[in-house]
Amino acid sequence: ESSPKPLLSLRNINMSFGGISALKNVSFDVLPGEVHCLAGENGSGKSTLIKIVTGVYRPEPGTIIDYDGQTYPHMSPMTAQAAGIQVIWQDLALFPEMTVAENIAFQTVLGSRPRFVHYGHMRDIAVKALARLGVSLDVDLPLKEYAIAQRQIVAIARALVGEAKLVFMDEPTASLTQSETDHLLDIVRNLSAAGVAVVFVSHRLAEVLDISNRLTVLRDGALVGVYPAAGMIQSRITELMTGKTFDHK
Ligand code: ADP
Ligand code: MG
Repeated sequence: ESSPKPLLSLRNINMSFGGISALKNVSFDVLPGEVHCLAGENGSGKSTLIKIVTGVYRPEPGTIIDYDGQTYPHMSPMTAQAAGIQVIWQDLALFPEMTVAENIAFQTVLGSRPRFVHYGHMRDIAVKALARLGVSLDVDLPLKEYAIAQRQIVAIARALVGEAKLVFMDEPTASLTQSETDHLLDIVRNLSAAGVAVVFVSHRLAEVLDISNRLTVLRDGALVGVYPAAGMIQSRITELMTGKTFDHK
């Protein structure tokens, strides 16, 4: 039996803060184009894992990051971004005073070291990226005119423009309404269909599971297990997350 080669393979991640162990020998794989749900109680190490892959934190020696055919002892934010790893944080790193188009395209256009940055060029890039997500926004409006749900979409469009192969979403649904969450999940489906792998952290487990291929559970910084998402029920996940068993009535 052959399974696809992982896009990302983390081996033996250890990370501690001032003697407190946040991740204990965790190994974690992401397959190309999959939607992967990362679950665990508050403080279980989800954000720390994401920060290691995206180069925010440097793990302890011994950790191996295999990504897209290369081995890295650690990532840096620039290396991660250049390799197509993007992250959508809960507190989005966007520029409210700039237009939607500038928010989506500025980083990428600057990366190509132009002598001048033409607004029309950024505008074209932004409109195309939003169209790929099946969304239409007025790209000439300042971002601050839009609500958090649309800002999420702008952040995802920017990730697409950055030629992401792997997008981490760390609790992006926390401040969204139900219909905004549904829309975001549709976009995640589109990303995955376009071959972009998405690792999703959310408290809305049932909904995220519905669009996920696999589920990884962390507890107190340790890996509990990796499971197919199909057939997983919420009460079982709660048991895995807490280590406590419940009566199934
Ligand atoms: P989660 O995202 O699953 O809620 P985190 O990865 O944020 O969990 O945190 C895991 C553990 O590491 C927690 O005990 C948290 O307090 C600790 N931690 C995370 N970041 C830091 C930091 N920058 N400094 C000190 N402790 C941290
Ligand atoms: Mg977190």
